[in-house]
Amino acid sequence: MANVLFSNVRILDGSGDNPYPGEVLVQGNRVRRVARGSRALPSPGVTVIDGAGATLMPGLCDAHMHISWNDAPSLEAIQMMPVEEHVLFCADVARRLIDHGFTMCVGAAAAKPRLDVVIRNAINRGQIPGPRYLANSQEIGTLGGLGDTMPPHIDDYRLNFGALVSGPEEMRKVVRLFIKYGVDLIKLNLSGEPIAKIGSEETPMAEDEIAMAVSEAKRRGKRVCAHARSSESVKLCVKYGIEIIYHASYADEEALDMLEAAKDRHFVAPGLAWLIQITQHAGKWGVTPEMARDMGYQRELEVAIETMKKMHRRGIRVLPGGDYGFAWTPHGTNAKDLEYFVNLLGYSPMEALVAATRQGGEIFGRPNELGQVKEGYLADLLLVDGDPVANIKILQEKDRLLAIMKDGEFHKTPELVPHRQRVAL
Ligand SMILES: [Zn+2]
Repeated sequence: MANVLFSNVRILDGSGDNPYPGEVLVQGNRVRRVARGSRALPSPGVTVIDGAGATLMPGLCDAHMHISWNDAPSLEAIQMMPVEEHVLFCADVARRLIDHGFTMCVGAAAAKPRLDVVIRNAINRGQIPGPRYLANSQEIGTLGGLGDTMPPHIDDYRLNFGALVSGPEEMRKVVRLFIKYGVDLIKLNLSGEPIAKIGSEETPMAEDEIAMAVSEAKRRGKRVCAHARSSESVKLCVKYGIEIIYHASYADEEALDMLEAAKDRHFVAPGLAWLIQITQHAGKWGVTPEMARDMGYQRELEVAIETMKKMHRRGIRVLPGGDYGFAWTPHGTNAKDLEYFVNLLGYSPMEALVAATRQGGEIFGRPNELGQVKEGYLADLLLVDGDPVANIKILQEKDRLLAIMKDGEFHKTPELVPHRQRVAL
């Protein structure tokens, strides 16, 4: 464990307050002292990092992460990767995420039953580098819904992308199975998804199935998240206490009223990157803009932007997390989401940063020790060459991340060059 003093840094603490010049002392795996000004903290016996005016900020959170999506152009191509190669691919993704400054990622479903759990455990043991990770189940969907990739002529459930259920008892069994495997979260596919040939505004999962999933998960202290593009599915998330809502594009005024009334409980991660990239940049993988428009994604992107603006105005917590891991949204480009929040949703850069840091600690259920640079918090820190408040895009450049620390250990150790001058941006 490190004893490190970051001196001569601008502290962007993740709370939403303006950055200020100061020093941060890390002892063991926690931030012990934070002070304004210079030479305010004692330095004997600690490694002093002269930040030369760089920004010290909390590590980033991606709230909609599929570590086992393998940068492929279809659900089938993700599913068909043999498990041995798939484990190695996930380990590489975990490293890529922390290389790009993400120290917290919320698993939003795994491509095979135990991939998320195995990778989370390997990260926690120090076997592989990676972010803090909440491990999810496979997507639990309905026969004929999102996750059903089995061709009609081959009756073998192993060809399915998700775990499919028909009825509450099948749901009970599959939720218990994933909990046995060690997941932190259970993922339900409530709504449709055009690439799965079922419209975004459809809600194929029945209420008795949802009720069963939530009660079985809560019985074991697990949280539930949902693929919920339709307005009806968003309302079901609020009704049944599904805290993490993915997409929510078509939430109508009634759904927004319900969400706002329960906004201390819920998080929304819209997955904008996926909509933006599939509508505009997936032609090389066979999805032309015309095809994306015909599938309804262009309209959904436009509606989703308006819906997220409304959520922002209502104070509903919307977090970056773009469904990265398809060919058109490769892992490692995740920080683009912050730019989208600023350019498309009307967030100020500081609001986008809070959504990716402090609110990351909140979605992890650890608001008092993750997501901020404060005394007593876990030392998950980035030293950034430049000012992300002035230019949110610099977080997309991994070479601008001079140091990356997780749990008090450097993943990327800064060069110890004293009194280096850096440009402001
Ligand atoms: Zn997703």
